[in-house]
Amino acid sequence: MCLFCKIVEKNIPANIELENDDFVAFHDINPKAPIHILAIPKKHVDSFNEVSAETMSGMTTFIQELTKKLGIDKSGYRVITNVGENGGQEVKHLHWHVIGGSKLRWDHLADADPKDFF
Ligand code: AMP
Repeated sequence: MCLFCKIVEKNIPANIELENDDFVAFHDINPKAPIHILAIPKKHVDSFNEVSAETMSGMTTFIQELTKKLGIDKSGYRVITNVGENGGQEVKHLHWHVIGGSKLRWDHLADADPKDFF
């Protein structure tokens, strides 16, 4: 069973912010901003590559509810999912990083210099 499936099953503890029958959102153990929550489907999906449109539909509503609960829907936030090796995905259970609580940086994201490709 993967790490996030264990959180879903409550086999390992997590600081849960919001939960319904299909999704759960909990605080990232290593936050990169004042608010850093991980929103996941309870049903195991490896990554965004495999997720169904139906799950994404529910996920969208869930994340919108989450950002309202956190009080960041008006001030703004970022939603990110890392996919695969280049995306930096460490946990192979689809998760959306919901990040906010302050002005977020938007520096260059790639190890390679974008200018080298133009
Ligand atoms: P990613 O690199 O996109 O796969 O993100 C995985 C995230 O999971 C990282 O931000 C980790 O800090 C976070 N993480 C790992 N273990 C736990 C845990 N037990 N509880 C909460 N967050 C975790």
